[in-house]
Amino acid sequence: MFSKILIANRGEIACRIMRTARRLGIGTVAVYSAADAAALHVKEADEALAIGPAPSAQSYLDGAAIVAAAQRAGAQAIHPGYGFLSENAEFARRCNEARIVFIGPSVPTIEIMGSKSAAKTLMAQHQVPMVPGYYGADQSTSGLTQAAKDIGLPLLIKASAGGGGRGMRIVRNFSEFAGALASAQREASSAFGDPSMLLERYIERPRHIEVQIFGDTHGNLVHLYERDCSLQRRHQKVIEEAPALGLSAAQREALLTASLTAGAAVNYVGAGTVEFILDQTGQIYFIEMNTRLQVEHPVTEAITGIDLVEWQLRVAAGQALPLAQHAITSSGHAIEVRVYAEDPAQDFHPSIGRIDYLRFPEANATTRIDTGFTQHDVISPYYDAMLAKIICHDATRIDALNRLREALRETQVVGITTNVDYLQRIITHPAYIEGGFDTHFVEACKHELVPDTTVPPLALVFAALVQFDALSRRNAAAHSPWDELTGFRLNAPAEIPYQFLIAEKIVEVRVRKVSMRLAVILPTETVMVKSWSVLRDATYRLELDDQTVCAEVIDTPTLTHVFLAGQHHRVSKVDPWLLADEAAAPAGNLTAPMPGAIRAVLVKIGDTVERGAPLMVLEAMKIEHTICAPLAGTVTAIRFSLGEQVTVEGAELLTLEPITAGGNDDA
Ligand code: ADP
Repeated sequence: MFSKILIANRGEIACRIMRTARRLGIGTVAVYSAADAAALHVKEADEALAIGPAPSAQSYLDGAAIVAAAQRAGAQAIHPGYGFLSENAEFARRCNEARIVFIGPSVPTIEIMGSKSAAKTLMAQHQVPMVPGYYGADQSTSGLTQAAKDIGLPLLIKASAGGGGRGMRIVRNFSEFAGALASAQREASSAFGDPSMLLERYIERPRHIEVQIFGDTHGNLVHLYERDCSLQRRHQKVIEEAPALGLSAAQREALLTASLTAGAAVNYVGAGTVEFILDQTGQIYFIEMNTRLQVEHPVTEAITGIDLVEWQLRVAAGQALPLAQHAITSSGHAIEVRVYAEDPAQDFHPSIGRIDYLRFPEANATTRIDTGFTQHDVISPYYDAMLAKIICHDATRIDALNRLREALRETQVVGITTNVDYLQRIITHPAYIEGGFDTHFVEACKHELVPDTTVPPLALVFAALVQFDALSRRNAAAHSPWDELTGFRLNAPAEIPYQFLIAEKIVEVRVRKVSMRLAVILPTETVMVKSWSVLRDATYRLELDDQTVCAEVIDTPTLTHVFLAGQHHRVSKVDPWLLADEAAAPAGNLTAPMPGAIRAVLVKIGDTVERGAPLMVLEAMKIEHTICAPLAGTVTAIRFSLGEQVTVEGAELLTLEPITAGGNDDA
């Protein structure tokens, strides 16, 4: 076995590979780009070497730099993870030449399977069932047009070198063919550097089922059962499970046999995945083979109890597979969800920025969390925005789903937007629970998956009380009674108003001390609070007459995040300054409208400025934003200096003490 390996990847998969290496007593070397110097995978490795600037082309895709790092560290093997160089034959060859073991299959296998056309041609020779199509070398427009006519409609144009659903076009009418072909070729050229296309019959609403296979250098080849990856969005997997739902014994047998045939056709060595689609009649078709560890491998690990990375390391070190086919069994049901830093409300745009608060459920025998991030890390624009994978395994699918629902309820992220609520809506959708869905499920149900933005009264109570609490603590620490801000009035009980923006309307919530209690007055009701306490960190406990409720509340300058009963409520705060002089106040406040760099600081501490005076310039997304004073005031703090990066949207840039013209009108 190796004594030291280098992991040519980042994020959760780098951390996951290191976990197994550590257990096997193998030393680990991480590589990192300039953007990742403080990343979790760097902290978890025994050694870490810098390989280049942030863009992956100059770091995680720089094969020469990675091999040089392995040589410098004395690593005997390189694990490429998934993505990046994991299916790059050139990189595998470079490793071989440097006498470093590439943990993956042989160069010729990667080459054949890296081309969907070459793979399909080979599979057809071995009678693996195939979608009718054209996988040939003639890439002339006339040749492809003739092939399209022979196949018939509907038709799928696919990039031969494709991946991640890119370079794919559906054609339902021949008049669209030429345009779709040209645009797929353009996309494939820029994404993969290869415009070659294959054509195949488009299967309406298929299911996606894939089989994990494993081979060694001693001639053994086994399967580790199948995974159902039908829950996709735009041809990209979102939720994966094992075993696949509702397969008949004959269908499963056909899939497993075809996968072993595919593996045997290339004397497959290492971990591989043979992907199929199933049409509505249950007919199976090979679509491609991936010659690496898949993102979704943990569901296979859960049902088989096998550590796939351990097997990869053993096979790469020349050992035989630890188990024969008959000894590989499957038990229970496992489901994985991919938690992304993306905004489902903004067409799933990646959400870049600092993670201000991050809480995952506790890992245990049934719940596994694979992540490469910790609180305060930054989701950078350079790499894939997958934040974590949550995998639940239990005796039945329903049990696993119940676990997953709980796990998602306990996943709390503030600072960036995630798809956690969206995943929760999918897994609680009756049609998903029932199973039997196809790759078009989320598209077909999209109107039922939209977020519920209503804020329940209790979430508003928490939002107001957290602010009331902060104010009370500030007052307790104040030296002069004149600094107190408790809203004290001579002839009325002390009452503090808070304003929130809910569904584009201002909602006022008032908090008033009533003898030993607090009354929280909402527009629709008054909630009497018996006690209010902080349990830990951001967890608050609220005792009412008839119930006790706990919630996590994270307060940021513009938003109060309330995690209540498994729901993430975002309560927008209304800035009272702006409200006081709304009509006259210029647009803008003192927070960063988005992450960016400080290009100018136009004031210094102690300066007195007029309303509307420019204070700072922030450059974000190639546009300059001038931060202006919302009211006349004195600058009391400047939180960022010239050239500094503001990594989180909503960060307070400076503090302005307002100058009030007429004194205290409460008097
Ligand atoms: P990529 O390598 O880009 O991920 P795949 O060939 O693996 O491309 O296909 C990705 C997804 O696209 C499949 O899971 C399936 O949902 C859909 N797909 C692929 N081929 C077909 C087809 N012939 N008909 C219908 N859908 C298909």
